[in-house]
Order: sequence, then C-alpha cells, then structure tokens
Amino acid sequence: MTAAPEPSFRDSVDIMFGKAVALLDLSPGLEEKIRVCNSTYKVRFGVRLRGDIHTFTGYRSVHSEHKEPVKGGIRFATSVNQDEVEALAALMSYKCALVEAPFGGSKGGLHINPRDWEPEEMERITRRFAYELIKRDLIHPSQNVPAPDMGSGEREMAWIADQYRRMNTTDINADACVTGKPLNAGGIAGRVEATGRGVQYALREFFRHPEDIAAASLDGTLKGKRIIVQGLGNVGYHAAKFLQEEDNAKITAVIEYNGSIENDDGLDIEALKQHILQTGGVKGFAGGTFVEDGAALLEKDCDILIPAAMEGVISVANADRVKANLIIEAANGPITAGADELLEKRGVVIIPDMYANAGGVTVSYFEWVKNLSHIRFGRMQRRQEEASHALLIEELERLVGKPVSEEFRNKFVQGAGELELVRSGLDDTMR
Ligand code: GLU
Repeated sequence: MTAAPEPSFRDSVDIMFGKAVALLDLSPGLEEKIRVCNSTYKVRFGVRLRGDIHTFTGYRSVHSEHKEPVKGGIRFATSVNQDEVEALAALMSYKCALVEAPFGGSKGGLHINPRDWEPEEMERITRRFAYELIKRDLIHPSQNVPAPDMGSGEREMAWIADQYRRMNTTDINADACVTGKPLNAGGIAGRVEATGRGVQYALREFFRHPEDIAAASLDGTLKGKRIIVQGLGNVGYHAAKFLQEEDNAKITAVIEYNGSIENDDGLDIEALKQHILQTGGVKGFAGGTFVEDGAALLEKDCDILIPAAMEGVISVANADRVKANLIIEAANGPITAGADELLEKRGVVIIPDMYANAGGVTVSYFEWVKNLSHIRFGRMQRRQEEASHALLIEELERLVGKPVSEEFRNKFVQGAGELELVRSGLDDTMR
C-alpha cells in the first residue's frame, strides 16, 4: 500500500487549526488573519572560525502579536527552515492562549548541528545570531522573548541575555529579554524540568478521569504502565524520570537519534541518561538491549507513547502500526495531520502538544515576571508569613492571658505542624 502524500509541517498545523476553528463561529476573514504568520525574518551571517568564514542561516518568525511580547524558543538544528519555524511559531500562539500565558507566538531557529562545534565556537555563533535579532527588536523584553528549544539550553540563553545587555546597557529590564536562563543569571528554579514536569502532570490529570482512561482501553493508574519515550533530551528525560521515580511507571524503551534501548522490566532512566552523557548514546548500556533501528520501537507494544523528539515522527507511513492506545505529544507536532486522522479512526487517544508541553512556557512566564518585578520570588511571601505568625502569636497570648515561651515561638515560626503546636501551646499554658 502506498501512503498518501504528507502535507508539510506548516500545512499540518494549519489543517489542525482549520478543524478547531470549524467548531467556532469566526468570520472567514478573521480565521485567515489568525492562521497566517505575521512575519518571518531570515538572516545569513558569517563568523570567522577555524581560519575561514562560515556562513549560517537563522530565522525568527512572529506568528501573532495579539499580545506582546511574543514568545517562543530558538532551535539549533539542521532541520531548521522557514516552514518549520513558522509552524512552531503558530503552535506557540495557540499554546500560550490555551494556558493563558499573556504572550503572542514566535519561534526562532538556527540551521546548525551544535555537535559540530566546540563550546567557544558555539558562543561566537550564538552571540552573532543574537546580535542580528536584537538589532531588529526580535529579541526584546517587551517585544519578543526567546527561550530554549531543541539543541539550545541555559548556556545559550545566558549568552543571548549577555549580548542583549551589552547592546542595551541602560535597559533596567534587560534580564527579561530571554527566559530559560541559568538560575545564577536571572533564571528561575524549575524552568529546566518544567516541560517534562508538565507532561507528567498532564498524564496524572488524564488518569484522574475514568471515562478517558477507558477510552484509551487502559485501566488503573500510572503505576506499572509501560511507556516508550522517543528522545531523552530535556523534555523526554525529565518526563521519563519523573514518571518512573514518582509514579512508578515502567519505561520499557527509549528511542534516541543514534540507536535505541529496550527493557520490558523497565529502564533506569537516571542511569541511562548518565550513560548517554558519558558515551554519546544508549549503546553499551548494561540495563537494556540495544536496538539499531530505533524508529521501529515506536511500533512496539506499550500503554503510553511519548514522542519527545521532533515533529512528524508519526506519519501516515507508520501510524497504522503504532500499538499505543494513548499518545502524549511532548514534542511540538510529532503527529502529522494525516496520522492524526488515522489514529483517531482507530480510537487512539492523543493528548495534544499545545497542552502537553505547555509547562515550559508557563514557567517562562514566571521567569519573565520575576525579571520585570526585580523582586526575588519568596521574599514578599516570607514577609507576609512573618506578619501572620506575629498576629497569630499575639492572638494566642491574648487567649491564654500570658506570653508564650521563647521555645514555642521559635518552633511556631519555623513552621511545621502549626495547628498541633498551637494546641500543645494552649494545653501547656493552661495547665
Ligand atoms: N521552546 C519551548 C516551547 O516550545 C518553550 C518556549 C518558551 O518558554 O518560551 O514551548
């Protein structure tokens, strides 16, 4: 059987958008205005490296400025092209709207294989690309705020923030020009894990609804569920780790770009990640069996499939062979519009990307707010707690008609079991 031709990623996103807006009462003109990408900036720039000038191509696409700043990651990958950044920018608009993060949608990309370059070379390339975008307000705290994506992380965000600071020395809000920064450079605790954590929470939520569980021909809880994860990058790693360590799910296979690994009794995700970091791949990991043809494992029997690598991996070419009854799109656009239709016909339940992986941009929002407020999170809260402790102790002293002991006061202020302490405090004083 020959598979029907697949639409491009960009068309795929538009097809899904078309299905969604068909349920709304929008005028065709408004539909069209929401659908299109407002602008895409493409830049070629040269960097002198290893004795020669190397030319790189980068993009920043703005899908919708209905809210500003616009938000979305910068991808460093060889898959990057205009079609891809536009599709990803559109997904950002819809994702932010869904979780009510007050941002428009944007996405950037640099056509590069980061593995080809040394860290100091990557720094020069990243700073040069950032310079091009900053110059055009395509990186700006109130206009356009990038974040990590495939191939980029805290390190790249720190370089970008520093580049912005150098070019805008008087901007008091400079830190807010990019999110996903390291904690010691204006970042926020939990941002690195946030997208994976969101995938875990989406699955936990799913397993709170018996009718949804039954629709996916599953039962019970996440405990013991056989899960296959594609991609042990930032998103896949944290999702798999949390699901294994905190929900007792079994990760029965991990699919990586250079080989895969399976173990029906469950893989030790933390140990596997350490192995990948040390050796560059899953090959040779003692806790499982190496499989050369990774993509085939997408079709292996399991309860939940988590594509956490990249777009288009489940297409009309393999959708009918996928055995999972529940797929959660941890990556952006891993299921093509054609595959979506085939899976839906077979009753496969899909938790869509714009909801499943929105944890990242949600925590980015808090990082941005924290940068703009210039107040360290927790400081205000602590003040309030101190004030309410003082009031409660005052009330307690009034009730019992004498001051509480210093020991009691210290324990009370330190927190744990406040109600118990109040009870015991009352008993003591009244005795
Ligand atoms: N790149 C991530 C995404 O696709 C995060 C975006 C952000 O935090 O702005 O959602």
